[in-house]
Amino acid sequence: MSKETNGLKLLIEPQQEEQKILDGQSRICNWLYNDLLDKAQTYKKEFKEGNKESGRTLYTKRGFRNLLPQMKEHHPFLKEVHSSPLKNAALRCSDAIRTHQKSKKGLRKGKLVGWPKFRGWKRKWFSLFYDEPTKGFSIEGQTLKLSLGMGEDRKQRSIEIPLPEAAVLKDKKIRNLRIIFELGKYFAVFTIEKEMQKLKPLVKVIALDPNHKNLAYGVDTEKRALEIEAPLWLKNYDKRIDELKSKRDRCNKKSKKVAVLDTKGNPIGKVRNVPSKQWLKRNDTLQRALHKRREQTKTFMFTAAHKLFKEYDCVAIGDYTPNGGGLSRKMRRAMNNRSLIGRFKQVLSWVGKKSGKLFLEFDEKGTTRTCCKCNAVVEGGLSPKIRVWQCSECQTMHIRDENAAVNGLGKVLRDLATKSETIVSHIVSGSDLFPVKERWAWCVLPSGVIITPRGQDGDHIAATGN
Ligand SMILES: [Zn+2]
Repeated sequence: MSKETNGLKLLIEPQQEEQKILDGQSRICNWLYNDLLDKAQTYKKEFKEGNKESGRTLYTKRGFRNLLPQMKEHHPFLKEVHSSPLKNAALRCSDAIRTHQKSKKGLRKGKLVGWPKFRGWKRKWFSLFYDEPTKGFSIEGQTLKLSLGMGEDRKQRSIEIPLPEAAVLKDKKIRNLRIIFELGKYFAVFTIEKEMQKLKPLVKVIALDPNHKNLAYGVDTEKRALEIEAPLWLKNYDKRIDELKSKRDRCNKKSKKVAVLDTKGNPIGKVRNVPSKQWLKRNDTLQRALHKRREQTKTFMFTAAHKLFKEYDCVAIGDYTPNGGGLSRKMRRAMNNRSLIGRFKQVLSWVGKKSGKLFLEFDEKGTTRTCCKCNAVVEGGLSPKIRVWQCSECQTMHIRDENAAVNGLGKVLRDLATKSETIVSHIVSGSDLFPVKERWAWCVLPSGVIITPRGQDGDHIAATGN
């Protein structure tokens, strides 16, 4: 088993009080970083004058970190931050200096890295890094519990922040956590250990033909066809999102003039434009809707992928690259699921690896226009509007997507036969895979996959082809 890691960025929803605390923690880390950078000048000077100890503090990985106990005595407010993020602010400062040093000495590839600059907290929120799996944070139900420092009264404090998506961390090995602030929202970024399993032998294989009618149409080595329905509910989300967006854009984004202040809060004689409260409120509603849409889509894709890898040892999908030619406007809009398919592939790849099964992409070229029974090719291809067609050579009636998937499966099996010994390779040509014996439809819902039969009869084309 190989060990890799994977980042998982989850939204956290601190209340106003907790937001203040998080900001406070971040500010203190930022202050520490800048203070160390300030001290670095003195150490540099002392080192040049021959003080080796100063050189060790300045140029070693943990030099600044080792100053912390003493600094906490001089600046008791540092004690308000948990030791992990505080320590990491110091390590980060050392790292920035060391990176500069290495770059200067030519020990580092790429552009020359300058001496680190002071950090402006308002410009960039200083992230809080908890580098050990069990230190400073824990997850209980849908709550992230963060430990703060002890404060001067040496009482360990903590805050609890809602973590709505905590369920995805279940049974996962967490390595570390970073709290970040982005676009007005707080996130918890977890580093997760991936446990990859060894590849299992391939027995059942399915080839999927992604397209704009459904998410994908597949044919498997047991001569079964299945249509995975597109997430139609996405349309409702898109409609709602369009509405929210136009509502927001009816407000002026740069309606209010605000004086620019310096770090001490005094105006510097400049003004900048900021959005109105109304705009911010409406934008917030829009961002929430977008977030929900992303979440629902993610669930949809993971549910479909898990079901596929539960059923199959190998899931292959065509390298769908439509150019939009010959499509009506309506169809082109439906093709917005192109990006959905792109992400679906990523999810399939990841779920496949995790379950020790194989995910493949195959070259889709010619799969639609070739008759899977006799290999005759339709000159000029088939317009996307044609869902059912008859081969002019062998007179076979084809469901467009099914024919393409059968050809795809043939390609996949031939490819596998040349590469792998584990594959059951008795079926290698398209005609061995045709006609399919059963047709099924998958409707993917958050609760699971609803499977309905679409007829057992290979000639029953008219009912499924439209
Ligand atoms: Zn034919």
